Amino acid sequence: MKVIETYSSEETFEAGRTIGRAAKAGDIYTLDGDLGAGKTVFTKGVAAGLSIKEHVNSPTFTIIQQYDTGRLPLYHFDVYRISDIEEMDEIGYEDYFYGNGVCIIEWAHLINELIPENAARITIEKNPEKGFDYRKITIY
Ligand code: ADP
Ligand code: MG
Repeated sequence: MKVIETYSSEETFEAGRTIGRAAKAGDIYTLDGDLGAGKTVFTKGVAAGLSIKEHVNSPTFTIIQQYDTGRLPLYHFDVYRISDIEEMDEIGYEDYFYGNGVCIIEWAHLINELIPENAARITIEKNPEKGFDYRKITIY
């Protein structure tokens, strides 16, 4: 387990970038934390670490967005609006989870039963006592 405390979105982006630089084909990272915690900021950092040039945004309405311009393909999931786990089957999630790219999954606890054992689990938490821009990032 590793804990990273950040005090700005830039620092959270940098934490993601470090992960992206080290990422290997087949890696899966789950991201959990409240709305506005910084999951998408972190993901943008991961994309930068993979040298992805495209603009990365949360794929809330499409569940998955794929980026192919980097060192490895990035499969960015946001499953916040999923209402039935079968929607994951419909998008063919297994091809991504067990493929040769890097998966990052926002709100992963909502599809917990589908997350492979070997996934790296990341949580981002606020702490009002430590200020508005404070975040605690825990990597399990
Ligand atoms: P999520 O995807 O978890 O819903 P976003 O990444 O879209 O959250 O948004 C996080 C928001 O919080 C952004 O507006 C960002 O500027 C702000 N923010 C403030 N401090 C931090 C921090 N330390 N880390 C990440 N984001 C932060
Ligand atoms: Mg988001």
